[in-house]
Amino acid sequence: MITIDDLLAQNKLWVEEKKAQDTEYFNKLSRAQEPHTLWIGCSDSRVSVNIITGTAPGEIFVHRNVANLIVSTDFNLLTVVEYAVDVLKVGQIVVCGHEQCGGIEAVLSQPDDFDLIFVRKWLKPIQDTYRIHKQEIDALDDMGQRATRLAELNTLEQAHNLAQNYIVQRAWKKGSSLRIHGLMYCLREGTLRRVIELSD
Ligand SMILES: [Zn+2]
Repeated sequence: MITIDDLLAQNKLWVEEKKAQDTEYFNKLSRAQEPHTLWIGCSDSRVSVNIITGTAPGEIFVHRNVANLIVSTDFNLLTVVEYAVDVLKVGQIVVCGHEQCGGIEAVLSQPDDFDLIFVRKWLKPIQDTYRIHKQEIDALDDMGQRATRLAELNTLEQAHNLAQNYIVQRAWKKGSSLRIHGLMYCLREGTLRRVIELSD
């Protein structure tokens, strides 16, 4: 098992590596952040934003939660979006879903012993999306395909939720060219694909 000492040792190595490449690396990074993108994705440990997009620290402002939900009463999310849009002035917001998402699979499988009350409450919006598209989803061949389709529909839904949000609407009314992109990440291939694009 990886311990905290291992993580600290790995950090030390990473610092040395970065400094060997550019002695000013941390000085430059510590001055300010100017991210071009806000990324709202799933907390899944396999979907590491900077790694899968080949970007560096300072480029992407990040919010992650289970199953990449945009909940209009979630102050954590709203604070991140407001700061990213109004202060950092990001040009685009990505809402990224992914295949083999545990949150999506939990909604589809609904195990009898599912006693994680907060997870169950949090996933309610996906339950609703599933109910609306149940016929289409249940007709698919296997669990993998059903989970992928529901993850895609959830990403569409969340991108629309974000577009309707007050913070985004306010930015668009002020003439912002902010764009919202719904993406899906394929774990087996490592690839990202477009699901939807929204702008004013
Ligand atoms: Zn997930």
